[in-house]
Amino acid sequence: MYQHRDLQGQPLPYGVGKVVCVGRSYADHAAELNNPIPSEPLLFIKPASSLVGLTAPLVLPKGQGAIHHEVEVALLIGRRLCQADAAQAMSAIVGVGLALDLTLRDVQDTLKKQGHPWERAKAFDGSCPISPFVDPDTLMDLGALDFSLMVNGQLRQTGNTRDLMWPIGDLLAFMSQCFTLEPGDIVLTGTPKGVAELRAQDSLELQLNGQLPFSATVSE
Ligand code: ZN
Repeated sequence: MYQHRDLQGQPLPYGVGKVVCVGRSYADHAAELNNPIPSEPLLFIKPASSLVGLTAPLVLPKGQGAIHHEVEVALLIGRRLCQADAAQAMSAIVGVGLALDLTLRDVQDTLKKQGHPWERAKAFDGSCPISPFVDPDTLMDLGALDFSLMVNGQLRQTGNTRDLMWPIGDLLAFMSQCFTLEPGDIVLTGTPKGVAELRAQDSLELQLNGQLPFSATVSE
């Protein structure tokens, strides 16, 4: 059963809630999938059942076409945010980590063409592998976090939160106008370019701010 944890592996005192995600928040990624850049954040939700620890081998869905990795900075919310402003939102962040917004890309392409919701492509069980959380007070500036994903020793994705189209506080404030964020909820801030297919037995290395390396593997 998934639980939020700190870097030492200790459970954090927050229940497990929903995951509120933003699409196309980095212009370079919107461009690589030939998507228009939205004028306001494009939001979607993964349920609590999508969360799995990044430390166990990842089990991918089979027989549904390509599955893409999207490495994203993940924020653990510690206080209720309802119609919050940016300052309130920033002070509610109690953990920072990295997550993979796993996406069944072929399924998503079909759903998009039909004008249907994305849940089957984005919200399946295990679609949100997530790292332990760093205390945000130990990170210099949430507005300038470097992060990267290597797969089998090759750099696939690298990003910095300064390139977000909306600063993190504004993004959380916007989300809280639509969905109340509860303690234990997670926010994924979107992915930079470089999304690509994950395959059985891939080995992954994730880094946040050039430190805190997390390793993960994909099961057979
Ligand atoms: Zn994403």
